[in-house]
Amino acid sequence: MNELPRSIREAGELLRKRQMSALELTELALARAHDDRYNAWLRWSDEHALSQARAADARLRSGGAPLLCGIPWACKDIIGTKGIPTTAGSRILEGYVPPYSATVVERLDARGAVMVGKTNLDEFAMGSSNENSAFGPVKNPWREDRVPGGSSGGSAVAVAAGEVLFALGTDTGGSIRQPAALCGVVGMKPTYGRVSRWGVVAFASSLDQVGPFANTVEDVAIVCEALFGKDPNDATMVDLPADDLRRDLDKGVRGLKLGVPREYFAVAGMEPGVEGAVREALQVLEREGAKLEEVSLSLTDHGLAVYYIIQPAEASANLARYDGVRYGPRVEGRDLVETYRRTRGQGFGPEVKRRMILGTYALSAGYYDAYYVKAQKVRTLIKLEYDRVFEKVDALVTPTSPTVAFKIGAKVDDPLAMYLNDVFTLPVNISGLPGISVPCGFSEGLPVGLQVVTNSYQERKLFRVAAAYERATPHHLARPAKVAA
Ligand code: GLN
Repeated sequence: MNELPRSIREAGELLRKRQMSALELTELALARAHDDRYNAWLRWSDEHALSQARAADARLRSGGAPLLCGIPWACKDIIGTKGIPTTAGSRILEGYVPPYSATVVERLDARGAVMVGKTNLDEFAMGSSNENSAFGPVKNPWREDRVPGGSSGGSAVAVAAGEVLFALGTDTGGSIRQPAALCGVVGMKPTYGRVSRWGVVAFASSLDQVGPFANTVEDVAIVCEALFGKDPNDATMVDLPADDLRRDLDKGVRGLKLGVPREYFAVAGMEPGVEGAVREALQVLEREGAKLEEVSLSLTDHGLAVYYIIQPAEASANLARYDGVRYGPRVEGRDLVETYRRTRGQGFGPEVKRRMILGTYALSAGYYDAYYVKAQKVRTLIKLEYDRVFEKVDALVTPTSPTVAFKIGAKVDDPLAMYLNDVFTLPVNISGLPGISVPCGFSEGLPVGLQVVTNSYQERKLFRVAAAYERATPHHLARPAKVAA
């Protein structure tokens, strides 16, 4: 066998029937990952993975092992891993080795999952194409002249190219859902406060959430069950049970009301092929028994403006700590200020600098009320609008991104065009809601994603709708040609 099983469930059955050992599965994943024709990986953790695999085999032999035991996975390199360098895609963290693992990593460790390595990303997760990585762009396995989306592009590709069975990403404005859509896999951002951010390099703290990429909705739910749940180290977390996330997977959508927000189809730059695939997906859901209802989210347009005030403001505060004293390389100057200047000048890439400047400006005396406070007020209005819509419908169904994977280089000189790629995903972060992207067909031979959004803490319903769609179509089974060959 030289391909991974199709899903965590399938792999779990092979492992339990002793048709394959966790060590064999891990060696296969490592071999495929090392091949790395897409530059998806920043580092492999061979020794660590092999020892985790041996421990998983022992656990599987003794019976009662968790579903994730022995399953190889990939970790976005913005999530801290004890003893394994963590760069956040930036030169400024080169050589940094975290003294502890993020809670999410500890939880997967505890269930016996096997971490194969750390994946490439936009620097500090700032980007929609992975071209902002200090370690070179990631290529899309469906067409190598295309971006994989971002910022969690490496994690999306590791799953799409069949190198691991799931991956973790972070989603601040779309960084899991958008690359999932562009790479033809399932990607999910949980409700804010569901997953611990402890040990994850902070980007914009009121928006960041960790979530999974996988091949199926069920697999994503399995990983969420491991990730969810209160962590005393993250005070923003809610205490809700997570062990029943798969309960409604088979219930179907009959009797559910699905909202179709008008504004999510009428944006500049929306590709007709994307709109066509998504409209077809809506018909599928209708045939499955859902009731579709057009709704209005009139503030959608303002999401981008709000996000590009709040996010850089929070980032500029979070990234102040990279001063050459506490982490990473230092470029000495005449005095301390000059040392800061040189270290940060050389350590950060252009997109990070752009956001530091934007954020510092928005927070500065005289502008704080005009920009930051105003943006927070509009943020509340956006959330209230979602609240009103969710009084009428069970879930929203929308495109994940207005375009398919674009050419590497096509938008690097036009930050605004790049930012527009996230118009459908970032209002969801602004409002703290859960969202998932599932493959819903192709346009120009490239994958299109359908986004499902529910009200906060309704992940079970989110998975129910997404799984009903997945069952009714074969799109999630499609694989890029070279990978399938
Ligand atoms: N593309 C968005 C940005 O550049 C979102 C990134 C993210 O979700 N991490 O900020």
